[in-house]
Amino acid sequence: MDPLSADPLPAAARLWEDLDEPWREAFRQAWQALRSGNIAVGACASTRYGEIAGSARNRVNDSEGPPGEIFGSALAHAETNVLARLPFGSSRNLVLTTTLQPCLQCAGAIRLGPIATVRFAGPDRYWDGCHDFGRLSAREAQRAQPARIGPRRDELGTFATLIARFGPALTPGFEKALRTLGEGPMADVVHELEDGGEVERLAAMEVNEALGYLWPRLQELTELMPAP
Ligand SMILES: [Zn+2]
Repeated sequence: MDPLSADPLPAAARLWEDLDEPWREAFRQAWQALRSGNIAVGACASTRYGEIAGSARNRVNDSEGPPGEIFGSALAHAETNVLARLPFGSSRNLVLTTTLQPCLQCAGAIRLGPIATVRFAGPDRYWDGCHDFGRLSAREAQRAQPARIGPRRDELGTFATLIARFGPALTPGFEKALRTLGEGPMADVVHELEDGGEVERLAAMEVNEALGYLWPRLQELTELMPAP
């Protein structure tokens, strides 16, 4: 075999290198959320050319936060915190990149915010269908809704959903709902990693290193997850 034809980078490292900076910033924010005992979701607003206008993370368990962000509340989601700091009247042409499919609250905030396009990595079946505001009223049906790109059906999408289930996220009631929606194999991996102390070891790594560490399990889980 020609050694020059062999890919010098493992798949996880290659994927990370190919991401644009808003994607990497969203994942770095999610990792900060994980390390600080929050739900591991991060988000980033950027221009269509990739210039970052702001980024934030989940802060549901924080007792403080930057001015203009919500913390210590069920509303303290990553996307909401990015949007809360964008000035009123900003032109509606930004890209919102988030690690997880937006929930009902964040989908509403994205619709009201200066966002032309939302990109998300991990599927969140719990909130499927909660972005379709055109069905709510005749007026909403008339107006342009933000374009949606996602979820990713690759290992990065699986990684994004998996990390969002660590720590405080997976309450018994939520886990039961997720298992009903086909996320049983992922919940099993969450318990395996948490019970084995691996989440603590992961938190000591950088997010791209954690992606590489989990890669074989992400490949298996990506195969097992239900199709949309
Ligand atoms: Zn949300």
